[in-house]
Amino acid sequence: MKSHRYIIVGAGLTGLSVAYRLMKSGIEDFILLEGRSRIGGRILTADGIDLGAAWFQQHHDRIHKILEELGMFSFEQYVSGKGIIASKSGTPLQYFEGDSNGLPTYRIAGGSIKLIQRLADEFPHKIQMQTKVVKVENTSVGLKLHTKNEVFKCHKAVICIPPKLAYQMVFEPSLPNQLNDLMQKTHTWMSHAIKVGLTFSSPFWRKQGFSGIVFGQSSPITEMYDHSSFDGNVFGLMGFVKDELRFLPEEERKRIILNFLENVFGKEINKYIDYSEKDWSKDDFTSIKDGETLPYKLFYGNALFNRPYHNGKLFFAAAETSYSNGGYMDGAIASGFETADKMVQDIT
Ligand SMILES: Cc1cc2nc3c(=O)[nH]c(=O)nc-3n(C[C@H](O)[C@H](O)[C@H](O)COP(=O)(O)OP(=O)(O)OC[C@H]3O[C@@H](n4cnc5c(N)ncnc54)[C@H](O)[C@@H]3O)c2cc1C
Repeated sequence: MKSHRYIIVGAGLTGLSVAYRLMKSGIEDFILLEGRSRIGGRILTADGIDLGAAWFQQHHDRIHKILEELGMFSFEQYVSGKGIIASKSGTPLQYFEGDSNGLPTYRIAGGSIKLIQRLADEFPHKIQMQTKVVKVENTSVGLKLHTKNEVFKCHKAVICIPPKLAYQMVFEPSLPNQLNDLMQKTHTWMSHAIKVGLTFSSPFWRKQGFSGIVFGQSSPITEMYDHSSFDGNVFGLMGFVKDELRFLPEEERKRIILNFLENVFGKEINKYIDYSEKDWSKDDFTSIKDGETLPYKLFYGNALFNRPYHNGKLFFAAAETSYSNGGYMDGAIASGFETADKMVQDIT
């Protein structure tokens, strides 16, 4: 049985933030157990497109700070030119100048995955992939974390996965009913989203005076933005797909999306280099196929998530458990840092 002082379950931004903070406190006796064969969780960059988290804002202080600390760059979302509103089909397109909400948003140079990779580089060899934890057992000599065929022992553990997924794990002894109830009812931010991205050899929409912003009402794309890279090597458009299209076969959905975009941007849309899409509702390490009808919750954090269980040995952290910017990347970092600090303080 492998034994560690601390075990972190989940190598998304929260889990990596816990590990980074432990390292900064001089603690090295920890391991991260990650269910997927990749790290990053809801942060995923493919062909230069952020298919998961992409943006942060001025008030997301922790991201600004950690990027600076790690020597990384961010840049402002491109919004110059005309934006397009596609109302009901058959009605003419409408146009507006610049950004719609006026607040600058920022992206990480190289894609959001760069932050994940940079954090993981701080503690090489401490992440074990394809290790899905299914059971947490409290014993007199510490916690035992079970996968299908392995057992890990530790002094303290933190479960850094969305609360709804944590609810699927077995806890022995069982957790308080109030906490179970809260975990089950906490919507996983963006777990319903379908994203699409296209890359091009040049930003033809910019040359036509468009910003790349599209807002659609009942159209196949509900929102779209310029997703070109900081270094000018990738020119792209990235957006959100209407929920109902998830039930169509992939090729049919793609045809509908391209047809819509051709009406909006013209025939050049068909000269894309890469087309990628990701439906997060079909990803078992993000979503539960429970036909979720919970309202999307923008205000997260709860005292029940922010205290330890099993005599101070078991902690929960995730973007959804953070009072501050809950659901967002910034909330994930906040949750990770705060929980790591509690873990080393020996609070019971
Ligand atoms: C489409 C989309 C768009 C988004 N856009 C933005 C945005 O623009 N700006 C923003 O700030 N935020 C955005 N977000 C939210 C952002 O991605 C999250 O806040 C953040 O990534 C959450 O990190 P986390 O570590 O808490 O959870 P996750 O990223 O979900 O990480 C959990 C990790 O645990 C692993 N795991 C799950 N179960 C187990 C198990 N049993 N055993 C072991 N490992 C397990 C998973 O594989 C995963 O790696 C977006 C999310 C999505 C899906």
